[in-house]
Amino acid sequence: MAAVFVITGPSGVGKGTLIAALRERHRELELSVSATTRAPRPGEQDGVAYHFLTEDDFDRRLAAGEFVEHASYAGHRYGTLRAELERRARGGAPVVLEIELQGARQVRAAMADAVAIFIAPRSLEQLRERLRGRGAEDPAAMARRLAIAETELAAREEFRFVVVNDSLDRATSELDEIYLQYTG
Ligand code: ADP
Ligand code: 5GP
Repeated sequence: MAAVFVITGPSGVGKGTLIAALRERHRELELSVSATTRAPRPGEQDGVAYHFLTEDDFDRRLAAGEFVEHASYAGHRYGTLRAELERRARGGAPVVLEIELQGARQVRAAMADAVAIFIAPRSLEQLRERLRGRGAEDPAAMARRLAIAETELAAREEFRFVVVNDSLDRATSELDEIYLQYTG
């Protein structure tokens, strides 16, 4: 399999934004579409943002061994389907996964060659502002995400690559450099 990149970091830190910027620069980079049991946000299409599954469907697929990794996060389940990853990687394309910390650890353990990158905010306050600015969650869900973020931030030490998403341009360039190291 060609390079597999794992982008992790707390909710609202800018993982999706940075991956979009990287994919603008590198059209060959495929994004693995995750499965989740959470409800779609306005504008999120099934099969594009996520594969939206019922709890039962998620359970069935889990029991059938269809997930490369999976985790519970803020009351919902998320996971990477093996078939999705293999389909994206077909033809030797590099693939990027955008997943939370527990999943990133599982991928690191299962796929020694995966390039795991932790995206960090400048500060917890900056993260709070971004989550608020995105406006996707109600106050209770946002508080839950911020509480998880505090523990997630401590995990940055585990990662060889840490990109601080303060200036978007600088963070994209740093990510780009890492990308080129493994694909260039
Ligand atoms: P994640 O995918 O990690 O949950 P998003 O990519 O959705 O995060 O980003 C969260 C919010 O922060 C969005 O509103 C996004 O536009 C904004 N954002 C991301 N990166 C930056 C940045 N470097 N500077 C300012 N705002 C940013
Ligand atoms: P959101 O609900 O904001 O889309 O995602 C919540 C968290 O779940 C984010 O940190 C996101 O990176 C993570 N996530 C998305 N897809 C997956 C996945 O397939 N596996 C895991 N472990 N986490 C995921």
